[in-house]
Amino acid sequence: MGDVYSELIGQERAVETLRRAVDGRRHAMTHAWLFVGPPGSGRSNAAKAFAAALQCPDGGCGECNECRTTLSGAHPDVTLLRTEQLSIGVDEVRALVGRANVAPVKGRYQIVVIEDADRITERGADALLKGLEEPAPRTVWLLCAPSPDDVIITVRSRSRVIRLVTPSDQAVATLLEQRDGVAPALAAHSARAAQGHVGRARMLARNEDARIRRREILSLPGRLTSVTACLDAAHNLVESSAQEAAQATAELDAKEMATLQEALGLGGRGAKPRNAQAAIRDLEDQQKARAKRLQRDALDRVLTELTGYFRDVLAAQTAPGVALVNSDLADEIEPIARRSSPEQTVHALDAILQARTALEGNVAPLLALEALLISLSLAGRT
Ligand SMILES: [Zn+2]
Repeated sequence: MGDVYSELIGQERAVETLRRAVDGRRHAMTHAWLFVGPPGSGRSNAAKAFAAALQCPDGGCGECNECRTTLSGAHPDVTLLRTEQLSIGVDEVRALVGRANVAPVKGRYQIVVIEDADRITERGADALLKGLEEPAPRTVWLLCAPSPDDVIITVRSRSRVIRLVTPSDQAVATLLEQRDGVAPALAAHSARAAQGHVGRARMLARNEDARIRRREILSLPGRLTSVTACLDAAHNLVESSAQEAAQATAELDAKEMATLQEALGLGGRGAKPRNAQAAIRDLEDQQKARAKRLQRDALDRVLTELTGYFRDVLAAQTAPGVALVNSDLADEIEPIARRSSPEQTVHALDAILQARTALEGNVAPLLALEALLISLSLAGRT
């Protein structure tokens, strides 16, 4: 066990800045921070570690009560907003601003962590700005987003940016071996396949289903031999991502509903009062939105795998001898690289990017996937 920063691998520069702030060096501390970095680089983990270090009497020992309750989400003076919704609205932000203005009861600071600050709506951002402009003396805001451009400039300009980087494959593999006890070969393979995404690497290393799913996705480009095959494959991907989302939430959905019904005093039988019906519908809407977001996350992983695959094809075409992301698939990638041109591969990568943009823009997943797979099948032809 180490201090709160020990699992932030490859982030020495960011950690150095955070340590200086916790140490109370002159000008090193400020009341608003923006953690940015590629998916999987550990933005929210870094924010939580910093929150723990700020509350800890020893600057983030990782073992005291302040550290442990902060990291587990139970500290009374640390509010963590991790939304399952596609957007964070003005009401939610106003509630956080109200919370931020309360003096800390136990800790040294009142800290608010927003994991997906890029999902804050425009009106929400205006409300947040009020909080950032008139901070209470012990209040600290920790915002996380993929890049500084993902939050509006007025919020960004009031925050100090902490940049996280994609950790090296070697660093990720070492973490899997040391922390999770993964065998070296599997750790190295998973780290490489996950392309610097620590959570994904750990999932691949520990979950055989995840490895099987990955193999299935990567075998897709070779199977797109007709329009019918493309449409079928798109349908299957959308179905399985919906199932994955449903599996992930079924238990939670039921528990939330039971809790709500208990709170409303509903024993299950008899007519339900109207306000209870509204509350139940509200919860159902939220659960649907969560399932939708998890499905989109699953489809996003498909796109990430396909991007790695076609990057490998391009590497084989233009820089033979360069190590492949999917080195386990070299036998499948080489023939595709020979059969197609680099232009076609670039076209395939473009099509994946377009599909990602379409999904982010709320295009129906099936439409986006059908268009993508048809483009990929054309890109594979000579
Ligand atoms: Zn501590």
